[in-house]
Amino acid sequence: MRSFRVAGAMGALVLLSSVLPGCIARGQGTQAESAGSKSSGAEIGTRGNNLLKASSFDDGKSVPWTTSFTAPASGSSRIEKGALCARVENAGQNPWDAQLRHREMTIQKGHTYTVQFKAYASAPTTVRPKVGMSGPPYAEYWSATIDVGPEPRLYVGKFTMGQSDDATAELAFHIGGALAKADVPFDFCIDDIRLDDPEFSGTASKAVAGVPNVLVNQVGYLPRAAKVATLKTPSKEPMEWQLAEAGGAVVATGKTTPFGLDAASGDNVQLVDFSSFDKPGRGFTLRVGNESSHPFDIAPDVYHRLKYDALAYFYHNRSGIEIKMPFAGDEKLTRPAGHPNDRALGGWYDAGDHGKYVVNGGISLWTMLNQYERARYSGGALADFGDGKLAIPERSNGVPDILDEARWQMEFMLRMQVPEGESLAGMVHHKLHDESWTALGTAPHEDRQKRVLFAPSTAATLNLSATAAQCARVWKTIDGAFAQRCSKAAERAWAAARKNPKLFAPAAINGGGAYDDNNVADDFYWAAAELFVTTGKAEYREFVERSALDKRFPTEAGGHVSSFNWGTTDALGMISMAIAPGVDKARADAIRKRIVGAADVFIKAQQKEGYRTPLQRTPDGKYIWGSNSFVLNNMIVLGLAHEFTKDERYLDAMIMGMDYLLGRNPLGQSYVSGYGEKPLENPHHRFWAFQANARYPKAPAGVVSGGPNSSVDDPYAKAAGLKGCKPQKCFVDHIEAWSVNEITINWNAPLAWVAAYLDEKGNK
Ligand code: CA
Repeated sequence: MRSFRVAGAMGALVLLSSVLPGCIARGQGTQAESAGSKSSGAEIGTRGNNLLKASSFDDGKSVPWTTSFTAPASGSSRIEKGALCARVENAGQNPWDAQLRHREMTIQKGHTYTVQFKAYASAPTTVRPKVGMSGPPYAEYWSATIDVGPEPRLYVGKFTMGQSDDATAELAFHIGGALAKADVPFDFCIDDIRLDDPEFSGTASKAVAGVPNVLVNQVGYLPRAAKVATLKTPSKEPMEWQLAEAGGAVVATGKTTPFGLDAASGDNVQLVDFSSFDKPGRGFTLRVGNESSHPFDIAPDVYHRLKYDALAYFYHNRSGIEIKMPFAGDEKLTRPAGHPNDRALGGWYDAGDHGKYVVNGGISLWTMLNQYERARYSGGALADFGDGKLAIPERSNGVPDILDEARWQMEFMLRMQVPEGESLAGMVHHKLHDESWTALGTAPHEDRQKRVLFAPSTAATLNLSATAAQCARVWKTIDGAFAQRCSKAAERAWAAARKNPKLFAPAAINGGGAYDDNNVADDFYWAAAELFVTTGKAEYREFVERSALDKRFPTEAGGHVSSFNWGTTDALGMISMAIAPGVDKARADAIRKRIVGAADVFIKAQQKEGYRTPLQRTPDGKYIWGSNSFVLNNMIVLGLAHEFTKDERYLDAMIMGMDYLLGRNPLGQSYVSGYGEKPLENPHHRFWAFQANARYPKAPAGVVSGGPNSSVDDPYAKAAGLKGCKPQKCFVDHIEAWSVNEITINWNAPLAWVAAYLDEKGNK
């Protein structure tokens, strides 16, 4: 039993004994119960089994409590004086627009529950606690409306569950809309909260799976390439490692290499290099002393399935088409077509939301087309993505399936271009998304928000110009008419962007991402380069040659040491010039050399990493939003360097990046769903929202999370106690943790690229 803490500043103890019966909750099947004395307050909690995973907040953690603010409501949460406080900056329109809630609990039919909590607010207000469904139709099993003021009070309620079991119930405090009586901003705080079920037989919180101290790629290693693991240990001396096959027999041994303190993780580590063992097999484990790794394979096909699953992401996120069997792979993942009335039909949903963005759609499409072009012009495994290879409706149309998938986005981007005869003709609308954010657990066809088509921007126009130019050459021999359409659109967009070089999208994020980009010199360069490769015209060539960006291959894009991302795109044009025909050899060779130079920079950074991540912390020692995508994009550069030089060091460096993503990291987390012993399970996605609402499916295999993000921007990640985390540990696999666990097309596209490359090389 725990006694109530007396928080000196609150004088809580005195006030607890003065709780008024009138404050006690009333609701369906609820009995008023007096908590008129200190002792009864303390004893109520001892009777039952508390379903809540955070009750007293004394350890500074409040997870899985989180806030939810629906625009125009806004606010934040924090732990103050050992209580969980929500600050309401804007109360919004509806009571539920501002709330504090705890999910992940089961409410069972016939069980009797006691709810008790202390609550106070910075100024008198009303609050509506409720236990009920966490998704539509939001049935309530118990609720009450209570007055809360500056003096902490104890509130007690009781109810018997009359409905059938609910395994995804929530306890929520609605504090918004008309409930909010205080002037904003105001604080509402809870403490010592319990939801007791004396009959509950399970344990309140799921045991957290232990993270092994021997960290490996949980999927596996390619037989004839680098095999490196990381050992967490305080020891500074080399230790003996043993590689055991599935039956337990030791098949190789060696000595670890001490590394020391790894700044990105805060761990003391050593490295285990077992590259010399090249015999394929399944279910190996690596041991050091009493420590053992997760099992893994050594096989040439470890990336074979992933290269297809990573591309399947795009079919699943198609807008404007029914997602159906057999392509969906699982009945649960099927759904009706979403947003059939969009002003620009088709395309892929960008990320966890249902927005469609030309900037970001552009780099994703480019990456997919580059995957095709890279294989096509280097004698790569092009046939692996030919007709009939992907699970998509176009799998028997005689066209390579990877191009069918890419075309779904290309057609959408073409539709975003302003037609001739209208103002800003040739320019491209920046984006199309919901007017306000929708709830987690919303399938595309259930989205009732108004869709907004945003004004054209220079960046979007150049994204279309670049990818349509790519389209014009890729489809030339496959669908001449489509290639022509792309070619015209690309040149129209170029001319329009030249006329309107400073139309910038606003940074507001209401109902969708901003993807604002006020520096478009790189986008101009990218578009000019793609147009030059495709058309050979002097205009584009001269633009490229005159650009200051033409003198180097970047390694400073986007905060991390990296070459490109959605907002920094000149490297994309350079890569096309290095790969595709139509560029004179001297120019292509010079660019290839610079790409190899960039790969050397990434290898140098990697060698300073205890987990051999091909990613350097930012100058202020952090990982930024979508850090895993920087790892992936750096791996593309390493892959290109390998392709150009055939030097295995680049391939090995790339593989070590994949090892990091698939489990060889301080959290022992595979950041890809469906892969590894501890795979990604709960990405932030409105349809793959099982964790938020069991009516919705889990994510399919092959989805990569954005991963660790030092800024810990969302309420859930904050509540999980991530603040102050070491960069590689700023992660939690939870659907509400959007700042560390979102997924998006421009992160899955490089995953597909690198998986395809590694599978191609691994089979050699
Ligand atoms: Ca096809």
